[in-house]
Amino acid sequence: MILPTLPSPKCSAVDRGTHKGRPRYPRYPRYQWLSWLVFALLGGHAPPTFADPPQTQAQPQAPEPAAPLDGRDGRELSLRNFRPRSELRVPQHLLTRAKFPVVDVHTHFRHRLRHDPEALDGFVELMDRNNIAVCVSLDGKLGPDLASHRDYLWKRYRDRFVIFTNVDWQGDGEPDKPETWACHQSGFARHVAKQLAEAKRAGVSGLKVFKQFGLVYKNPDGSLIRIDDPRWDPIWQACGELGLPVIIHTADPAAFFKPIDAFNERWEELSRHPDWSFYGDGFPSRDELLEARNRVIRRHPRTIFLGAHVANQAEDLSVVDKWLEELPNLYVEFASRIGELGRQPYSARRFLVKHADRLMFGTDGPWPETRIRLYWRFVETFDENFPYSEKDPPPQGLWQIHGIGLPDDVLRKLYYENAAKLIPGVAERLKTYESRTSEP
Ligand SMILES: [Zn+2]
Repeated sequence: MILPTLPSPKCSAVDRGTHKGRPRYPRYPRYQWLSWLVFALLGGHAPPTFADPPQTQAQPQAPEPAAPLDGRDGRELSLRNFRPRSELRVPQHLLTRAKFPVVDVHTHFRHRLRHDPEALDGFVELMDRNNIAVCVSLDGKLGPDLASHRDYLWKRYRDRFVIFTNVDWQGDGEPDKPETWACHQSGFARHVAKQLAEAKRAGVSGLKVFKQFGLVYKNPDGSLIRIDDPRWDPIWQACGELGLPVIIHTADPAAFFKPIDAFNERWEELSRHPDWSFYGDGFPSRDELLEARNRVIRRHPRTIFLGAHVANQAEDLSVVDKWLEELPNLYVEFASRIGELGRQPYSARRFLVKHADRLMFGTDGPWPETRIRLYWRFVETFDENFPYSEKDPPPQGLWQIHGIGLPDDVLRKLYYENAAKLIPGVAERLKTYESRTSEP
């Protein structure tokens, strides 16, 4: 690897001061700055230089050892090596426990703990320490898989967990042959409605729809399944009739629908996970997906929909504000989005206070305790400029967040009151939790 040739001030001297009224900075060849930026982002692939290479006798040479792009001694700095340590000194409130009992409505106990019993014991201890009364596991699945998940969570901790089930769109079909998938056979949605009724009798509290619905699953002709396809209407209708709320993950952060380039605010993350990008012709636009979801919500006013991840529009809360005004059966939770809300603390606080009756609390965990405690710090304090994750670099954008100090009445609604009203099984578990924790 070689370092880029930085232009010497000499070679740009002719360009100096050619624009009236502008400061006289040395000017570099047009777009040279872009090639430096790309260079730094790519971790050191040298950009093209504009100078002729020096004429030397071709001699076989051992390659020079790569210079570290560590920003020292005048060397370039790779974005991957950039770890700024804030010199800001402001008050810190490192909360270790939520102020009121919490219902975490967005957790993945199958996907993240893989049914490991010791990990579950450890997490329940963490819940006790942090005042998390109940977790909603969204990985219930259906049929025998549902039974194994119930066993895992409920054998010892039935009073701490409720379970959401999932639709099995593929069934016995072959992954690459959509025409064989269960969802394309006649009577599918009515069959799912029956399964939902059975799941409800087995103690399930709601339905989770994953983001592949709209972005991955296909029709027999190769097109993507439409979220608002009327074929699925009996499913949403059954959820309304059974009193099962639907938590739906549609689309993803705005940056995932943009090119992975120097202008992408999540470049660092997407460069590590290019498969998370939905940019390009193979995908519907983010707006199309979110509008299709909203049409479903509008068509089924008796069904409660919980828009996962601030209905996946945390970058523009004015839009979510309009949706909440227009769709009385829509609620939101902010799992894995305190990074978004916390970088716009004034807007976020105004939004959360205004829609206090339409919020639920979610994390997308189980996460390490350090990260979970950042959620308490975000909603309960006015701390400034702190991380939203224990990871270094921060995994969802290279920025810090600020606390929004929600008032107690909003905190109560966010933490447990709304979930207790809307999710079957939560209210009685909260009661059990409160009676246990208030014992002397
Ligand atoms: Zn999730």
